[in-house]
Amino acid sequence: MEQKLKGKVALVTGAGRGIGRAYALRLANLGADVAINDIDLHSWKQFDEKLTADTVVDEVKNLGRRSIGIECNVADKKEVDAMFQKILKELGHIDILINNAGGLQVRPETSYASTVPEDDLRREMDRNLMSCIFCCQAASIPMKAQKSGRIVNISSQAGLKGAPDGFYSSYGVAKAGIIAYTRYLAGELAHFGINVNCIAPAFIGTARLMQRSFSAEPGRYEALLKTIPLGRVGTPEDCAKVIEFLVTDLSDYIVGQCISVCGGVILF
Ligand code: NAD
Repeated sequence: MEQKLKGKVALVTGAGRGIGRAYALRLANLGADVAINDIDLHSWKQFDEKLTADTVVDEVKNLGRRSIGIECNVADKKEVDAMFQKILKELGHIDILINNAGGLQVRPETSYASTVPEDDLRREMDRNLMSCIFCCQAASIPMKAQKSGRIVNISSQAGLKGAPDGFYSSYGVAKAGIIAYTRYLAGELAHFGINVNCIAPAFIGTARLMQRSFSAEPGRYEALLKTIPLGRVGTPEDCAKVIEFLVTDLSDYIVGQCISVCGGVILF
């Protein structure tokens, strides 16, 4: 792979497993040094994901790049600010931020828009939206000073359209907020040479998704495939390729966009 990002420093949040891990490895393969954040750097063990080393930090180092692991909660502003201090101190600068930490942690039956409990609502906002905003704010200080940077926020199809059964409203609202926040931030930071964009994945077949959502219920996976025009769930690499596009010169003139990585799900 061409070393397009040689000399760049990236941070991927929530990169202890899953799609975030794929982002981190792709950036490292493109030549970047990569800071790995996760609330639990061994989170891959929860779903028995196959790593080639003890943590993604070690995997990045094994690719010949510098890497540090920062185990902290990105929904906590103080912890986020301390994380950026550590990155600047140990890796020198920050050029690329991928705001990947987040996900869905509410029960479907209590997630309707008209009744979602306040605690669930606030937790989803904190995990998905506030964490993204805190990291963008912290990254924008050094990026503005150096007059360059790339930020990619991770939304979801849930932020672009509702669910027919009405489930997971708080997640959808938080992910929609990420798209709106991306546009505002993009307009503000473009003057500083910083491109801010966002992607909205649909069904991406991580170890977690396949084990939690599909292994228990026969036929559910096959039913899902019928709703995807491309006829397959996405892979973490499908998302990572779009990240490559958004953090390299291929997308120099693109700001404030949300790219669906969804196999056509958004069409219906
Ligand atoms: P995942 O749950 O498998 O991995 C998320 C990682 O983030 C975990 O390692 C977790 O420990 C970490 N994390 C969660 N909250 C954190 C916090 N507050 N601070 C630090 N780390 C935290 O999720 P995934 O499937 O790999 O998805 C990654 C991102 O993509 C999420 O934002 C998710 O909403 C989004 N997304 C995923 C899918 C999908 O189908 N998998 C679809 C649409 C959007």
